[in-house]
Order: sequence, then structure tokens, then C-alpha cells
Amino acid sequence: MPRAPRRSTHKPEWSWQDDAQCRGEDLVLFFGPDGERQPERDIRERKAKAVCSQCLVRIECLNYALSQPEKYGTWGGLNEDERASERRRRMRRAATVGVPAA
Ligand code: SF4
Repeated sequence: MPRAPRRSTHKPEWSWQDDAQCRGEDLVLFFGPDGERQPERDIRERKAKAVCSQCLVRIECLNYALSQPEKYGTWGGLNEDERASERRRRMRRAATVGVPAA
């Protein structure tokens, strides 16, 4: 994933991004253009997810995106809705077994 803007109050670990499969890819592939229609979005997301599926740091990317308020884009092979589902799944699991939601 292209480097996200740094925040002055929070300094996450970024070194995993050095091994990102998407380095050098067009940002539009992962975030989409303004006014994108659903059929085009589906195609674009499939392409982005194909890149993610080959990525050595997919888990690190996904965990980062789930731990941050990343509302948009494909991160760790999941789109916004899928990340929201995964975030809820992890929270339910954490509540059930008492482990951190990561
Ligand atoms: S999982 Fe996808 S979005 Fe994340 S670093 Fe890898 S290629 Fe980029």
C-alpha cells in the first residue's frame, strides 16, 4: 500500500510497507476514482485483490488497516465493507475468548 500520511500523535510501524506488492501501482487501483459505478468498482477491486493475494505483507497490511480508521480503499485484500465485517468478527471473538481485537 502506498505510504499513508503520518499522524503527529500516533507513530505506527511502517517497515512492512517496504515489501508491499503494490509499491509502484496506481493508487486508483486500490482507492478508485470519484464517481465510480459498481460494475467498474467490482472489476477494479478484483484486480486490486489479485495484487494483494501475491503480497508478502498482506496480514501486516490488513492488521494495520483494521487498527486505523481506514475507511476507504482495498487494504490487505479486503475492501471497506469486508474490513468492517472483519473488524466486527475480531471484536466478537475478543469478547468471547478475551483476546485483543488487533
Ligand atoms: S496487501 Fe495489498 S494493499 Fe496491502 S501492502 Fe500488500 S498489495 Fe498493498
